Amino acid sequence: MSILSEIEMRKAIERRDKSFDGLFFYGVITTGIFCLPSCSARPAKHENIRFFLSVEAAMTAGFRPCKRCYPVNGSSQIEKLIEVARYIEVHLDEKMTLPSLGEIAGLSPSRLQKVFKKTFGVSPKVYQDAVRMRHFKHSLKKGDGVTDAIYSAGFGSISRVYGESTRNIGMTPKVYRAGGAGEVINYACRNTALGFMMMAATDKGICSVQFADNESALLSLLRAEFPKAELIISASQKAPELDIWMEALDQHLSQGAPRPDLPLDMRGTAFQIKVWQFLLSIKEGEVLSYGEVAEQVDNPKAARAVGTACGKNPIGVLIPCHRVLRSDGGLGGYRWGLERKRTLLDKERRKRSQ
Ligand SMILES: [Zn+2]
Repeated sequence: MSILSEIEMRKAIERRDKSFDGLFFYGVITTGIFCLPSCSARPAKHENIRFFLSVEAAMTAGFRPCKRCYPVNGSSQIEKLIEVARYIEVHLDEKMTLPSLGEIAGLSPSRLQKVFKKTFGVSPKVYQDAVRMRHFKHSLKKGDGVTDAIYSAGFGSISRVYGESTRNIGMTPKVYRAGGAGEVINYACRNTALGFMMMAATDKGICSVQFADNESALLSLLRAEFPKAELIISASQKAPELDIWMEALDQHLSQGAPRPDLPLDMRGTAFQIKVWQFLLSIKEGEVLSYGEVAEQVDNPKAARAVGTACGKNPIGVLIPCHRVLRSDGGLGGYRWGLERKRTLLDKERRKRSQ
């Protein structure tokens, strides 16, 4: 399948072109529903449309299937399952239980868990978190304050906002190679304890955190990584979450606040993503060697490949590749210069021994 551009997808929706059904899906952020390109629903505003390459991707972003075009292949229970998804959305602030959801679908709790996951690619719990995240972003965009947005999205506290399940697993290498074609990436810069930093984010989460001497160097790094994406400097009203994330990371770097658990949109090969995901589990103050990481990702001989994957880490500090050293304790390399690696490690060691 060739990679569709955003323009092609928009045109397919305008024509309600059946030949594109299954090639992509589109969600409407104001309704939270996703559709086939041919859906007869009335057209949504340009800026409210989001594109997805799979049902799973749409559900992971907190959208539920349309009942008019049924974008999900399916089991005879599909209507019931969509009801369950709807129930989750309208009861976001409630603690959800599998038995109560099962009742709606007329299924046992374990059966519901299985069928939901098989049909939609995500569990009911992951879907609930995703819907909360979508509501959260939406109310921030409307201009609600952060605290209001947190509670109205059904999150009990700020620490719940950036849970594990909102982390994106990353795109396929094929899409990645397209250089972000058809995507909008928001970015912002600021000076931090590690020098100038640029953070960039897609709709799914942070896709890049880099350090350099000045803003123009940072912009060329981002451009090299996503040559085909539309890069937009963040205006608060367009990407308010980016500002909050920058602030959180800056506080971590400058004031020793805990490393914020922010949603990440990792782009890389399957192996790189596996390594980066593993790096997320290394705790502050701990270090591992490239060989040890290789063992942990089930590939003991891949120490060198792990080193390369660390060197290609696009999301500095948040994916803590600085915690991986040579087996003799040497610093190894660091994409943003050994001085920054040393600073980060010293700080974490000191904090740990306090
Ligand atoms: Zn539809």
